[in-house]
Amino acid sequence: MISTISILGSTGSIGTQALDVISKLNIKVIALTAHSNIKLLEQQIRKFNPQLAVVFDEKKAKQLCDNIKDTNTKVLSGMEGLIEAATQEDCDLVLNALVGMVGLKPTLSAIKAKKDVALANKETLVAGGSLVMDAVKRNCVKLYPVDSEHSAIFQCLQGAPDNKSLKKIILTASGGPFFGKTKKELRNVTKAQALNHPNWSMGAKITIDSATMMNKGLEIIEAYWLFNVPVENIDVVIHRESIIHSLIMYNDNSVIAQLGVPDMRIPIQYAITYPNRFKSPVKELDLADVGMMTFAKPDEKTFRCLSACKKALKIGKTAPAIVNGANEAANQLFRDDKITFLQIGELVEKSVENVKIVEPKTLDDVLKADLLAREFVINSINM
Ligand code: NDP
Ligand code: MG
Repeated sequence: MISTISILGSTGSIGTQALDVISKLNIKVIALTAHSNIKLLEQQIRKFNPQLAVVFDEKKAKQLCDNIKDTNTKVLSGMEGLIEAATQEDCDLVLNALVGMVGLKPTLSAIKAKKDVALANKETLVAGGSLVMDAVKRNCVKLYPVDSEHSAIFQCLQGAPDNKSLKKIILTASGGPFFGKTKKELRNVTKAQALNHPNWSMGAKITIDSATMMNKGLEIIEAYWLFNVPVENIDVVIHRESIIHSLIMYNDNSVIAQLGVPDMRIPIQYAITYPNRFKSPVKELDLADVGMMTFAKPDEKTFRCLSACKKALKIGKTAPAIVNGANEAANQLFRDDKITFLQIGELVEKSVENVKIVEPKTLDDVLKADLLAREFVINSINM
C-alpha cells in the first residue's frame, strides 16, 4: 500500500474526486497541480499541506505564491513545474489527471524516475502508447488504469492465469446524450446539449468526447496498450445505464463483468490502493433498483470518431497521435463555437487520411504528429 501521492490536475473532475478518496485513507499528499484555478488549489493546499504546488500559468503561479506565503508549500509553474511534481523523491504514486497531450512529458518523467503511475490522462497513452509502455517495461514500474472501463477490465483480469486465455475485451459505452440520433438530427445540436451527459459528471473535454463517441475510440486504443489485445478483439457495446463498466471474455466463452454505480471514486480508489480494497464513499449498487439493463450496437456510420480511431489503431505508428491531436483541436473549436458538432467527426476522420504518418521513435515524433494534426484542423476550417 502506498503512503504518499502526487496528483497532477488536482483541481479537475478526477483530481477533486481523488482528493475526496485520499482524505479517507492514510496517504500523504506530496504535490498538487492546476492550470489556473488558484482559488481551488489554495483550498486544497490548506487542507492537504503538500510540499509542492504547481500552477501551469506563470502569472497565476506568482499570485498563488503571494496568497500562500504563510504555508510551507513551494510554488512552481509551467512544464518544468509539472515534471518536478511528477518526480518528487518521496512520492510513491503519481496520479496523472491532466487533460490532453500536456500530460505526456510528466507521465514519461514519472516513469523514468521509477514512479508507479495511476493514469486517467488517456490522451497521452493513445498518442504515445509505444513510448509509454516501453518506458514502463524498462523501468519496471506499474501503470494502473483509472478510466472506469479499463479499471473494470483490470479488475476482471485479477486471478487470470495469463493473457493467453483472454479472448476478447468488451468496452461498455453509455452512448452519451445523442444515442440513437441520426446525422440529420445532429446537424444543429448545441454545445449545451453536448455537455449534458446522462450518467457521468466530468470535465468539459471528455464530456464532448462522450457525445461524439471519440471517448470510446480513445478507449479502444487505450485498451490496446494496457492489455495488449488486437483491435479485432476489442468490442464496444452501448449500455445506457452505465452499471456494467466493461467485460472480458475468456477462451471458453465465459464472460466476467465489473459492476457498480457510475462513480469514478471506485476506479480512482482501486488504482490508489491496489491490490487492497477499502471502504468507499460510493453508494452501494442495488440491482433491483436498477431494474433493467439494456445493450445495443454502436452506430459507427453516424459517430465517425469511433471508426476513425479503429482505423488509426490498425494503421498504427503515429496515426493514433494524429486522431487524438485532431480531436483535441476540434473539440476545443466546438466548445469555442467555431465549428459544428458533426465537423468534429469529419475533421478527425480526414486527419488520418491527410496528415503524414511516421514510425514514432522519439517523443519529438509524437509531439510533431500531434502538432501537424492540430494544424491540419485549423487550416481545414480556415479554407
Ligand atoms: P478536467 O478538465 O476536469 O480537469 C483537468 C485538470 O488538468 C485540471 O486540474 C486543470 O487545471 C488541469 N489542466 C488542464 N489543462 C492544463 C494544462 N494545459 N496544463 C496544466 N494543467 C492543465 O478534466 P477531467 O478530470 O474530466 O479529466 C482528466 C483526464 O481524465 C482526461 O484525460 C479524461 O479523459 C480522463 N477521464 C476523466 C473522467 C471523468 O470522470 N472526469 C473519466 C475517465 C477518464 P484547472 O482546473 O486550473 O483548469
Ligand atoms: Mg471511460
